[in-house]
Amino acid sequence: MSEPPAASGRTYFISDLHLTDERPDINGRFFHFIDEIASGADALYILGDLFDYWVGDDNPASSVARETALRLKTLSKAGTAVYFMHGNRDFLLAGKYATRSGMNLLPDPSLISLYDVPTLLMHGDTLCTDDLAYQAWRTRVRGPWVQALLVALPLALRLRLAGLARVGSEAAKQNKPAEIMDVNLEEVARVLQIHGYPRLIHGHTHRPARHVHQVNGHDCERWVLPDWYQAGGYIVCNRQACSLVML
Ligand code: MN
Repeated sequence: MSEPPAASGRTYFISDLHLTDERPDINGRFFHFIDEIASGADALYILGDLFDYWVGDDNPASSVARETALRLKTLSKAGTAVYFMHGNRDFLLAGKYATRSGMNLLPDPSLISLYDVPTLLMHGDTLCTDDLAYQAWRTRVRGPWVQALLVALPLALRLRLAGLARVGSEAAKQNKPAEIMDVNLEEVARVLQIHGYPRLIHGHTHRPARHVHQVNGHDCERWVLPDWYQAGGYIVCNRQACSLVML
């Protein structure tokens, strides 16, 4: 368990920003969030899909990646602990970029003590167990040797593969019923039980909400983060409570 320092008494959670040079308005909104909202916080947790795609830490072409590293580094230098958990889009993000950004890499899932409340953090894709095709793909690409192989490919080829993967994933989504794109409630209950019935915060599904699940007589809160395609938003917690804020 890692404990954020108790300074200002608030901690932010974001995910699914899908930053890309092709959407400068969203990038601007994110930079405003870092500079004006997260500034001065105890910690910022980025729970995956910060970037729309990531082909390796050595991609010099992405200006939003450069600018993001600068802003996050400034934030962390000023005393806000910054954590990053991989999403399904940016799972190749590695130690080199994390160091440059002042981010600590977090495994998925991670159980933290958030102002003394046990809180489980996940990206959320592993909860979507009804999407069998996606889970099979995930198992294939997330193996360590596949990742090593991917980042060893020439950059130009990796950029082409990322383009193909994005098109493929958009096409696959069009043909999937809405239910299988959401979390599976039995999987949620299973995960909550394994971790001792904590509060859960995750992203990925783009269905911002606060749910309460009764698991074996325990009331567990599940907070779902918004994506940043339309407006964006975050979850902020202090010692008293959490709230979901849409921008
Ligand atoms: Mn995702």
